Amino acid sequence: MATASKIQYSSAPGEGEAIYRTVCENPGCGHAFDLSFTRLNLGVLGSRIACPRCHRPGGALNRDQRIGDGVFLSRLMFPGIRS
Ligand SMILES: [Zn+2]
Repeated sequence: MATASKIQYSSAPGEGEAIYRTVCENPGCGHAFDLSFTRLNLGVLGSRIACPRCHRPGGALNRDQRIGDGVFLSRLMFPGIRS
């Protein structure tokens, strides 16, 4: 019982969750998709991911700006492409 206070789980939906409205920067693609992050998969932010449409691997998420409560614009950037 004493240990229960150490764990802070949120019961409110969306709390601790972030939506990344992402646009693929691969030339010719430009696919926009949403990525949702919680504490559980936050590690994905620091890893390289592939675009779900053009499947180009090695994309790095680059957060642009906050557009809402827990919603961020971001770009999926690839090495060698300058914007
Ligand atoms: Zn793409």
